[in-house]
Amino acid sequence: MSAKENKLDTKSLMPDASGVKQAIAILQSGGLVALPTETVYGLAANALNAQAVQKIFAAKERPSFDPLIVHVPGPTPDWEEWVRMGWLDSSVLKERTLTTLNLWAKDYWPGPLTLILPKGNAIPDAVSSGLTTVGIRMPRSDAMQSVLQGISFPLAAPSANRFGRISPTTASHVLEELNGKIDAVLDGGACNIGVESTIVRPHFKGEEIISLEILRPGAIDPSSLAESGKIPMQAPSTKHFEKTNAPLAPGMLDSHYAPRTPMKWDHAGVSDHAGVSDHSGLSLAVLELPHAAPPPASWSNNTKVLKHAKLSSDPNQAAHELYAVLRDLDALQADLILILGSLPKPEEHPLWHGILDRLTRASHR
Ligand code: AMP
Ligand code: MG
Repeated sequence: MSAKENKLDTKSLMPDASGVKQAIAILQSGGLVALPTETVYGLAANALNAQAVQKIFAAKERPSFDPLIVHVPGPTPDWEEWVRMGWLDSSVLKERTLTTLNLWAKDYWPGPLTLILPKGNAIPDAVSSGLTTVGIRMPRSDAMQSVLQGISFPLAAPSANRFGRISPTTASHVLEELNGKIDAVLDGGACNIGVESTIVRPHFKGEEIISLEILRPGAIDPSSLAESGKIPMQAPSTKHFEKTNAPLAPGMLDSHYAPRTPMKWDHAGVSDHAGVSDHSGLSLAVLELPHAAPPPASWSNNTKVLKHAKLSSDPNQAAHELYAVLRDLDALQADLILILGSLPKPEEHPLWHGILDRLTRASHR
């Protein structure tokens, strides 16, 4: 590998005026900076610069079919300007569409909501993986907003981790995976929410948004979203939560967010469910969920438990700590990470749905 491909050191920047200024300079010259958002750390590049965007795919070893989310400055949307700049297609400016988009923006932006909208010409195909749509999000974190407000382009920023692996919620998580592969990380401390944004695809009929589809569950409650947008609909479609092989929204790949250690979910204390018939002689890292279950029958005297972590029963805390806990368990190099028990129902809090989705994919083999 040439020195250029393998930069020796990734700079760690403070989230102050000087750090923000340095981050901006790197981004303006086509470089990569990991930035803290309220969800997870994003690996940012100029979304209008195809070469800069290619560097994201290279650093993450991300397949080109997986589109990137584009992050825009706040605190309020400037749809006309974004269309004028070619970030979005002019169809979003149709009166009825705009009414719904503005209602959503008012209630959820800046925040963990990504909207899939018709893309403008300035967004390179590399960002949208050739789709005619683009995922748009206005992040809430101060550091990222300071950067966005100091530049004239939006930022493509997928999670700052190797493709398919556990998303980073601290600057040191970013460095564990990408040190030397990116120019800098702006250290804004631990991300507040801890799981990725809720991704919503509005469905259009003429000029009107008539329904919405949740492509990835996150902190936002789908029915509140429908209510907020005053959408005449029965229930938001959640069909994409179901397992599908469709590569339409590849964050939904069956295996994603995964530790290196094999991970199995023992749903009901029945070992066969987890696909492991015998735990004897194995070293385990255990993640116990809020609705605890007893260890499976196959758990014998010589099953060695290296660590037994418990996920918080508070949904906000559980989402906040989820990826850090998974990283800790992964670092033990156990034979298996075993998930015991179950999560509270998604109806209790939208984050449980988000956590269920991440754990299901993380344990998929
Ligand atoms: P992340 O890697 O967390 O930034 O998430 C990016 C994910 O957003 C992708 O893997 C897709 O699932 C989704 N996404 C981004 N752009 C689009 C789009 N235009 N259409 C559908 N899904 C998208
Ligand atoms: Mg990701």
